[in-house]
Amino acid sequence: MVGRSGVEYADYTVSVYSPPCPYGCIYCFNRLPKFRHIKLKSSRIQAALRVAMQPKGVVVVSFLSDPYPPEEYHKGLTRQVLQILGKSHHTVLVLTKNPTVALVRDGDLFKKYDMWLGSTITSLQPLPEYEPNAPPNPERIRRLREAHRMGIKVWISLEPLLRPRQLIRMLKRLSFADFIVIGSLNHSRQLKLHLDLEQDYLYYVPRAIVYLESELLFEPGSPPQTNTYLIKQEMWRILSKHIPTVTYR
Ligand code: SF4
Repeated sequence: MVGRSGVEYADYTVSVYSPPCPYGCIYCFNRLPKFRHIKLKSSRIQAALRVAMQPKGVVVVSFLSDPYPPEEYHKGLTRQVLQILGKSHHTVLVLTKNPTVALVRDGDLFKKYDMWLGSTITSLQPLPEYEPNAPPNPERIRRLREAHRMGIKVWISLEPLLRPRQLIRMLKRLSFADFIVIGSLNHSRQLKLHLDLEQDYLYYVPRAIVYLESELLFEPGSPPQTNTYLIKQEMWRILSKHIPTVTYR
């Protein structure tokens, strides 16, 4: 089910910065015309306070743009939002391409309020052609592992899955995570990426599910439960087109 937030594993989202996001990932949905010019109007502090007062749930920070752009260094807006949400009854999931800054700046908050630090991992290698300004994948993985060693809960978004052939190797490398999301590349045509990964998804994702459950002992689910995984609906749609010819387990 897609929650009230529009994110399948969350009840609420709080976006801190408006698009365009300085990391400039070419697969990002916020490059689509309907998102590109969104400007967040109300105060982010007010938005966080509003969410904090809602019934207990899962909150994702941030949805429309990365919560740790360079301007966070002098504005500290994300830090203020996390201070509010951290004190609430919610489970808080932060998603950023820059877990280095998240840890250096706000590692204390993640520990104090038991918030989850997450990053999108698109490959085991750097992919500057897709993520020109973001810290590269190996750096993101290294920082997430460090966070895990510090006792911070870690989650990983394998969305968009750009290198499905690496999927099992990625899961092996990322097995320290508490929660893993696997999602397809969407809007490929609108974003002029012209990448057709369906056949690879069809072959590799069902095998990854078996691997997650039988080798890593992950179960379908989502935070606050740990050792859980979630296959996004768009990915299921792709797989289910081929159900008559595929055995998943
Ligand atoms: S970091 Fe996230 S929000 Fe920013 S461009 Fe990349 S995918 Fe989009």
